[in-house]
Amino acid sequence: MNEVMNVAEIFGKNVFNETVMKERLPKGVFKKLKKTMEDGAELDPSIADVVAHAMKDWAIERGATHYTHWFQPLTGVTAEKHDSFISVPDAEGRVIMEFSGKELIKGEPDASSFPSGGLRATFEARGYTAWDCTSPAFLREDALGVTLCIPTAFCSYTGEALDQKTPLLRSMQAIDVQALRILRLFGNTRAKRVVPSVGPEQEYFLVDREKYMQRKDLIYAGRTLFGAMPPKGQELDDHYFGAIRERVGSYMKEVNQELWKLGVTAKTQHNEAAPAQHELAPIYDEANLAADHNQIIMETLKKVAGRHGMTCLLHEKPFAGVNGSGKHNNWSLISDDGINLLNPGETPHENIQFLLVLACILKAVDKHADLLRESASDVGNDQRLGANEAPPAIISIFVGEQLEDVINQLCSTGEATHSIKGGKLMTGVTTLPDLDKDATDRNRTSPFAFTGNKFEFRMVGSSDSIAPSTVVLNTIVAEAFKEAADELEKAEDFDTAVHDMIKQMLSEHKRIIFNGNGYSKAWEEEAEKRGLPNIRTMVDAIPALTTEKAVKLYEEFGVFTRSELQSRAEVEYEAYVKAINIEARTMIDMAGKQIIPAVIKYTSELAESLKDVRQACPEADVSAQTELLMETSRLLAQMRRALTELIRVTEACAGVAGAGACARAYRDQVVPAMAALRAPADQLEMLVDKDLWPFPSYGDLIFEV
Ligand code: ADP
Ligand code: MG
Repeated sequence: MNEVMNVAEIFGKNVFNETVMKERLPKGVFKKLKKTMEDGAELDPSIADVVAHAMKDWAIERGATHYTHWFQPLTGVTAEKHDSFISVPDAEGRVIMEFSGKELIKGEPDASSFPSGGLRATFEARGYTAWDCTSPAFLREDALGVTLCIPTAFCSYTGEALDQKTPLLRSMQAIDVQALRILRLFGNTRAKRVVPSVGPEQEYFLVDREKYMQRKDLIYAGRTLFGAMPPKGQELDDHYFGAIRERVGSYMKEVNQELWKLGVTAKTQHNEAAPAQHELAPIYDEANLAADHNQIIMETLKKVAGRHGMTCLLHEKPFAGVNGSGKHNNWSLISDDGINLLNPGETPHENIQFLLVLACILKAVDKHADLLRESASDVGNDQRLGANEAPPAIISIFVGEQLEDVINQLCSTGEATHSIKGGKLMTGVTTLPDLDKDATDRNRTSPFAFTGNKFEFRMVGSSDSIAPSTVVLNTIVAEAFKEAADELEKAEDFDTAVHDMIKQMLSEHKRIIFNGNGYSKAWEEEAEKRGLPNIRTMVDAIPALTTEKAVKLYEEFGVFTRSELQSRAEVEYEAYVKAINIEARTMIDMAGKQIIPAVIKYTSELAESLKDVRQACPEADVSAQTELLMETSRLLAQMRRALTELIRVTEACAGVAGAGACARAYRDQVVPAMAALRAPADQLEMLVDKDLWPFPSYGDLIFEV
């Protein structure tokens, strides 16, 4: 009871939300601001000063000393530059706290240290940040004190997007316009806006901070680069969970509190597959806010872990052989009059609308599978996708048995006359029966699954922003809606036209539907027969960004220009090279300075003891010592050769000109050389005395949080 009261009290406490605005702003100003927020337009400069003033007073009353434009550059983490509210002291040496409309609306951070993929030469380093007033300002409390954070978009001086937010907002406009056209076709005249809703489920690992600090791979690369599997893996006992519960529980409690204060609707779950792995899912929100909130969630998970003597790992694959972490992007389209376009309707009319929307999504995903795959690629996710735990690298759609049956009937006879779950179904005459949520959600191996009233895109990596995948979904579906609306608006007989269109689209794009086991080898083969792309690595995925198909799509809907796409491809290649380079150098360091010396020490001790035993008792059987010595020495030699080779290829690849060519070289040469170094090291870990092994093992890290 007490807790519930507290939640209600603290929820949104640190957010400059509508309630606060209404309270603190003159009526006229509030109205104008609200309109700006609804239309997603730019803030009227004439009211900016008033809004800034109210925001400043509110923040200062709560102890804020600084403000920052908070933005998401293409580095993958949020960035900020802090300014204090303090003004130039007056003649008496007094300062006042200032914050103008200009400072609220626009910032000019030096952008030269953020990746731009060639969009902005360093001599033109100016970039600017602009307040996205659809995402409310918030106060962050931490060791720095209290900071007013203003969510902003980040662009080059010439207006090109250098961040995640700008294209997301653009894509939301695109889908809004096209989705409204679809609603109008079905007679809806009330709806004024359609907004994509997103609910991201965030997976993460927790490890003990002291143990974390002993592993350079975790510190530098965020994942282990060496490590033999513990005797016990996934098949986790309750015993282990019991042991970690106290510490993790108090951590989660604090995470929730922090998030609630920031207006993030967190609800936690403990039930993740791997030991030490957890999940946090908020209640879904408008895409743009959901993306910001997910960034806040990731920041909070990391920050709070430190206070509990732990480190939060957001990497997609912190431990080889142990389940990795993803971020399911639950996506739907909801109108301001409360209609979820992905909800099978209650009237025949809504039903056809649903089938049209579904057909458009199948078409969009089939046509742009490469873009969707690309949106989920990051360096860490290369370790996860297609590795028998996460969805394969092939995009397909799970619709469930019931819907697939309806689709099959529509494709073969042009009419669906019955439904598997009983009940008669005559499209256009009666309604689709309620889809059984349990029946639709059973398949966990599909990358893109229909789950009753939303699609769940399960490929996104745990450390990645949800913006890119949401941008793709919004834009590709906007295109399919546009093509449908263009035709249907001209149709003389709407009912026949829409019926024929659904049938045609479903028939043409049915190949993207797959309800079976996505982890199986058979599916890979089947997908190849169907002509579905199987894009295995991030480097293979990046070219999708700049195909003529992609440029045409994004330019048509004003989401990206050609040069913005080229810059993003460049940034991604660079990110890949940088990440792999750090991993390779970390391995070189650990192998050379830690593992090899430890193994040498162990072999010397073995040799010594072998000598001692022989001396003390010449008849003793020393085959165990001898074999161990032979085996460790053999692996040591193998490791040493692999180390030399990794050093060589890393140096060679670093010199390859051109971002794409360099990334391919790293993928083809450095990545295999890393695997070749790891293999003997992991075998050695199983042989060498645990006391001599230079860092905590998988078992120590995973089971002893
Ligand atoms: P599931 O069991 O299918 O994973 P959950 O109820 O656990 O579904 O929800 C997972 C996430 O999906 C949550 O963040 C939830 O808020 C979100 N979600 C639920 N409905 C929708 C919707 N219509 N659009 C977008 N996200 C949604
Ligand atoms: Mg889910």
